[in-house]
Amino acid sequence: MCPKKFLSQSFLKSKGIAKKIVGALSLTKEDTVLEIGPGTGILTQFLVEQAGKVIVVEKDRDLVRLIGDKFKNSKNIIIYEGDILKQDIKELSSGLRLKLISNLPYSISKKFLYLLLENRELFSYAVLTLQREVAQRLIAQKDKKQHGLLSIMYQCFCNTEILFPIPPSFFYPRPKVSSLVVRIEILSNPRYQIDDYKSFFSFIKTCFASRRKMLKNIVGAKGELGKKRAEDLIPEELVNLWRMGQRNRSIGDG
Ligand code: SAH
Repeated sequence: MCPKKFLSQSFLKSKGIAKKIVGALSLTKEDTVLEIGPGTGILTQFLVEQAGKVIVVEKDRDLVRLIGDKFKNSKNIIIYEGDILKQDIKELSSGLRLKLISNLPYSISKKFLYLLLENRELFSYAVLTLQREVAQRLIAQKDKKQHGLLSIMYQCFCNTEILFPIPPSFFYPRPKVSSLVVRIEILSNPRYQIDDYKSFFSFIKTCFASRRKMLKNIVGAKGELGKKRAEDLIPEELVNLWRMGQRNRSIGDG
């Protein structure tokens, strides 16, 4: 199978690593697992052995055929051809809380990470292979250069653990960057009460869009907080700032 660059195809070569990645999800026959971009099925073969039900979404028609053929005798796999960014994930999940796994195509990794949070109630755990720089954003604390929108959102709604690196030589073709495998626990009770996800997301996005500006000049924050920048604040302080803004707006409305 000739790898297609426009689909960020980079296939894992090591079965040993594939087994280790799948092992990080601790699957049982009670679990339904969603895999994005199964490629030639190196992770998938362990999923069909360990999970109750496996759903895969693959954009490349040639690979969909290959996977269909490879798993024609497996009864617990459903194969969809499509772009995960355009799928109705709720419909895919048919109401079950899923585990998620993917050696995520690097071209869609950030977009997908936001999509995952928007659909967070459908997922319990995710094990993802990400480019090192993106993985580090998820756990970056203030004062780190990777600290930003992705860090705040993931630290509010998830626990993220970096598990192990995979050097470029384990993939074909060799990617330019090295990868990290992460395990994300999607909290069913988020760390902070955030009752309006969309409003919170766009508030944090605004705060970090001009990350060198003081918050009083971006979101009209008052007092000491107003003199700080978004990148200087911990998630809890940003949550409080957003809540204050919401309260003021609702007083204004009333
Ligand atoms: N899991 C395999 C393949 C990883 S490469 C392995 O580890 O070897 C990434 C895979 O994602 C490829 O199969 C590619 O065709 C697929 N892909 C790329 N963009 C996609 C998208 N938007 N939706 C679903 N699959 C996609």
